[in-house]
Amino acid sequence: MIGTVIGSATPTPTMTITVYPVPGLPLIRPGDDLAALIAERIDLVDGDVLCVASSVWSKAKGYLRSLDEISPTDRAKAIAERTGEDPRFIQAVLDESEELLLEFPFVLSVLPHGHIGVRAGVDQSNVDGGRIILLPPDPMGAAAELRSAIEDRAGARIGVIVTDTCGRAFRRGQTGHAIGWSGLTAIRDFRGDTDLFGLTLHITEEAVVDECAGFANLVMGESNNGVPAVVIRGLPPWTGHDDIYWHEGEDLIRAALCAQCPVDPLR
Ligand code: GDP
Ligand code: MN
Ligand code: MN
Repeated sequence: MIGTVIGSATPTPTMTITVYPVPGLPLIRPGDDLAALIAERIDLVDGDVLCVASSVWSKAKGYLRSLDEISPTDRAKAIAERTGEDPRFIQAVLDESEELLLEFPFVLSVLPHGHIGVRAGVDQSNVDGGRIILLPPDPMGAAAELRSAIEDRAGARIGVIVTDTCGRAFRRGQTGHAIGWSGLTAIRDFRGDTDLFGLTLHITEEAVVDECAGFANLVMGESNNGVPAVVIRGLPPWTGHDDIYWHEGEDLIRAALCAQCPVDPLR
């Protein structure tokens, strides 16, 4: 009976999703109009999802720091001594962090906007002159601003995801993550749907923005590709919500890490 359900009664819908780079973007500098630079290089249609690397948003907005201008505290020096990193870099990481979950073998911290990231997402690559790149302080706002500016120019209704490359718990290897989004919901909610056997799903919520960011990250690459923006076309519609970060008490890994921390090292 199940065979007929899959094979004939409910034909599998076909779906073609294309993912392609925005070509020819220059090196981004503070003051650049990123939305204009993207919009003039690509034709967008309704339903497209544009993924933009947080690193270039931050460069365009000047969320950069020069290591030369950072004076590390004793705390930053002590952590840097253990991790073998530049104390000025560690100071920048501490400055971005709201709460430290781990300081060795790498700093893992909670940022004010809810994202939890290794080294607070501060990057030392793809930037010159002894500078470092901070994450956008308001990634949801960044996505909304980009969407509005690009929609105005493109005349199309799109979604925008601001991405960063992040590590994951339990597994080796980094993937793209969504740190801000606009024009689409983060989670596709399968709860209440029935599976192939008619059983109701109670748990499944799919982090669609992270899946999109993951694929976009694959097209971006990490080094010298020069592709900080990627278009995803042909995604199916979904319904869901934006509640992607665990609430207080729900995050078991965070709770376990906090239990290891004798004191909150930032206070
Ligand atoms: P992150 O994942 O947001 O931290 O950004 P990455 O440093 O990994 O860069 C993502 C992609 O954008 C890679 O293909 C980089 O080569 C590219 N990229 C970074 N900065 C620039 C830039 O200023 N201009 C261009 N055209 N590409 C950049
Ligand atoms: Mn990054
Ligand atoms: Mn990256």
